Amino acid sequence: QFTSLPEVNIVLLGALGVGKSALTVKYITKRFISEYDPDLEDTYCKIEVLDQQEVIVRLMDTCYKERREPDRYLKWADSFFVVYSITSRPTFEYAQKYLDLVIQNHRNGGNPECPLVLIGNKVDLERYRQVSKLEGATCAEKYDAVFFETTAAEDYDEVEEVFHKVLRLVLQDQSRF
Ligand code: GDP
Ligand code: MG
Repeated sequence: QFTSLPEVNIVLLGALGVGKSALTVKYITKRFISEYDPDLEDTYCKIEVLDQQEVIVRLMDTCYKERREPDRYLKWADSFFVVYSITSRPTFEYAQKYLDLVIQNHRNGGNPECPLVLIGNKVDLERYRQVSKLEGATCAEKYDAVFFETTAAEDYDEVEEVFHKVLRLVLQDQSRF
């Protein structure tokens, strides 16, 4: 009997320069590459093994232009990663605009079970921190989002753990149907 693998689509949103591409490439390839075309927008795919189960994971790494036509990724996503940099308060404020956008979408018929994830990136740059961990956590709570701080520049394991936790949430939810 043919059984298809579960699939999880994740879209990364956030201001320019927060590390969406870096986190995407880190998760897909386990490498940190420090320069990307800021206008690059692409979808990546990897087959993940999670709790002995294969899962097809697709990441849509968006760029700032995406805010103009959000419909495409709003319908596509099983989970939203809203990323800011802990070293930049404006990016934290920008993240809240994306959280509002996704919440709005949930109200307009989008899947409200679709996990919303707030990510404070670049914790390796602690000395330049502008947004406290508590502020991030409080903001996430307000939006009923899962919250993580992480870095694309150091251990792969940490980034992997963020993805694994979210994949489990999405898969738990899918298995209820
Ligand atoms: P995007 O516009 O959100 O896709 O941001 P990028 O992934 O292109 O990252 C913007 C810049 O921040 C690049 O120079 C990256 O090397 C750097 N960067 C991204 N993530 C991290 C991180 O976790 N730590 C540090 N130190 N730099 C990062
Ligand atoms: Mg990018």
